Amino acid sequence: MSKLNPRQQEAVKYIDGPLLVLAGAGSGKTSVITRKIAYMIEECGTKGRNIAALTFTNKAAREMKERVSQLVSGPAARGLIVSTFHNLGLRIIRKEHQCLGYKSGFSIFDAQDAQALIKDLLIQEHGEDNDQADHIQHRISNWKNDMVNPEQAIAQADGPADMLCAQAYLRYQRALKAYNALDFDDLILLPVQMFQQFPEVLQRWQRRIHYLLVDEYQDTNISQYLLVQMLIGDRGKLTVVGDDDQSIYAWRGARPENLAQLQDDYPNLKLVKLEQNYRSTARILKAANHVIDHNPHVFEKALWSELGYGDPIRVIRCRNEEAECERVVTEILDRRVRGHGQYADFAVLYRGNFQARLLELKFQVHNVPYKISGGTSFFARNEIKDIMAYLRLLINRDDDNAFLRIVNVPRRKIGASTLEGLGTYATERGISMFDACDEMGIEQSLPEASVKRLRQFSAWMNRVTQRCDSGEGMAAIREMVSDIDYEAWLHQNSSSSAVAERRMANVFTLIDSLQSTLEKADDDEDNIQAAVAKLVLRDLMDRQEEDDESMDQVQLMTLHASKGLEFPHVYVIGVEEEILPHRVSIEEDNIEEERRLCYVGITRAKQTLALTYCGKRKQYGELIDCAPSRFLDELPYDDLVWEGEEKDLELNQQRGQDTLSGLKGLFDSF
Ligand code: ATP
Ligand code: MG
Repeated sequence: MSKLNPRQQEAVKYIDGPLLVLAGAGSGKTSVITRKIAYMIEECGTKGRNIAALTFTNKAAREMKERVSQLVSGPAARGLIVSTFHNLGLRIIRKEHQCLGYKSGFSIFDAQDAQALIKDLLIQEHGEDNDQADHIQHRISNWKNDMVNPEQAIAQADGPADMLCAQAYLRYQRALKAYNALDFDDLILLPVQMFQQFPEVLQRWQRRIHYLLVDEYQDTNISQYLLVQMLIGDRGKLTVVGDDDQSIYAWRGARPENLAQLQDDYPNLKLVKLEQNYRSTARILKAANHVIDHNPHVFEKALWSELGYGDPIRVIRCRNEEAECERVVTEILDRRVRGHGQYADFAVLYRGNFQARLLELKFQVHNVPYKISGGTSFFARNEIKDIMAYLRLLINRDDDNAFLRIVNVPRRKIGASTLEGLGTYATERGISMFDACDEMGIEQSLPEASVKRLRQFSAWMNRVTQRCDSGEGMAAIREMVSDIDYEAWLHQNSSSSAVAERRMANVFTLIDSLQSTLEKADDDEDNIQAAVAKLVLRDLMDRQEEDDESMDQVQLMTLHASKGLEFPHVYVIGVEEEILPHRVSIEEDNIEEERRLCYVGITRAKQTLALTYCGKRKQYGELIDCAPSRFLDELPYDDLVWEGEEKDLELNQQRGQDTLSGLKGLFDSF
């Protein structure tokens, strides 16, 4: 506690009423939350199980858990909830789902599953999907975040296009229910609805959670705001921390005005502002302050730091995106060799995932270890999706999507027309495809051999389920993977045996991860169903497995994913018009959110910061001219050094040959 400054201490010790800590980047907001948890457990005698701390991403939740575990441990901390909003939602739904009419083994649909479902519904309804699925999915998500149900959406529809979305929403919701499935947004929406309809359920959770802490509160949307408000009730035992300048999720329904709303909701709200930054050099802070000063402000904040003035901020012009990625990777290699830190001290941040592809390739060519957070995750791999589908079907036989994914993987000689027959049979009777397998015997329209194969499959799956139910879950799952001889299937379907082995290793990683999820679970959640549900959620939140977290790797991630994190050395690439700010935001005149994103990027850096932009860049196969971002003009000119281009040209000519042969080697190795 003595390490905290007086304002931070004040925030930590104030537990009598609602508290808002409003402060700029790196001022110790998250630190206040972790210290406060420790203070309440150790000094105030609050039990861990009565405290919950919420944040948005798995990475942030993991970091927070890690920081808390360094401060407190032992029995008093047991049951402490440090999780994402979605994980808390899942926990609540798992306990209380009966009152909403869901069966216990519900599935959680990822964005791809949800989109596939929407496409199917559109095809059923209109004979084609009109390329609308993406837009409709986004619209449905916004409705859910705003707590608007399908009937309300239909009543409020504004014109035919909106009506089409609203009707798709209604059908989508019905289909989800039939699959006994939830989507990502339901994980918040359903608990709120449940609390509204069943006061006794709410009371149960209010008795469990006496004190709630929320990080990054500016990112809450309406449903999250309601969840917090209901859990707190009129007791006001709440600490929220936030920074309106770091609000970057408006497109997902986040409402930074929820910060101001707190003052209306809790007239006795106490406000603490923090202004000392403990993360960055003064020069980096000055740059951040200059940029964000171009936005209008609700709350004025003036950040300062005692960490010295620091190195100038480098702005590097590169010939094209190839030179840009090459420059960043070779520089990191060079700086590491010269002893300027480990690989893990460097982060490369970008606006869009498309920028990661070339970057990743360059990291591979130069053999520099890296880790991409978000983007193509572990769970996006085919082998993982296959095994996850087996697990999903195991816990929820109504999950037709999972059934369809694996009924023929590995091949069971069940053809498309058989599946079509099965689908019709199931739809007509309102049962799942899995259950239809058992009943199909009486149906004469399908060849006997096909029916037999379907029944074999379902009988086998039922045996695995029974073993899981009788407490031999992990052994049953390991045997399931060997029963289907998935390894042989991978060998038949991979380009080389090395690739097949790597993919099989991924499968084992998944199973180990399931086992450790199971072992780490609370007493009331120690079953396969809960463990699979947690894994699916981790997948949804697009995070890679935790194991490689400790390795020495350069961190690559989007600006969005970098929020709350810090790195000694940061590169932000593609600081160009139409990238940062994004083209769509320019068209929609939404520059302020892009500026906040830029602010988030700059304030991740502790010691050095470099911003790169390209003279030209390939877009849809054409080479286009790029303009440096307007945000570069907003930086303090005297604190910048400009580098690049000519030097790149030379370097590139020298390295051109190496890169080509390196790339060739890389492709050959796949
Ligand atoms: P962001 O807005 O980016 O989420 P934040 O306000 O949550 O930042 P923290 O991540 O809590 O800030 O803190 C930034 C850094 O400053 C961390 O490395 C933290 O350990 C350190 N720090 C926080 N408070 C103090 C303090 N009183 N003395 C020394 N270091 C501190
Ligand atoms: Mg933070």
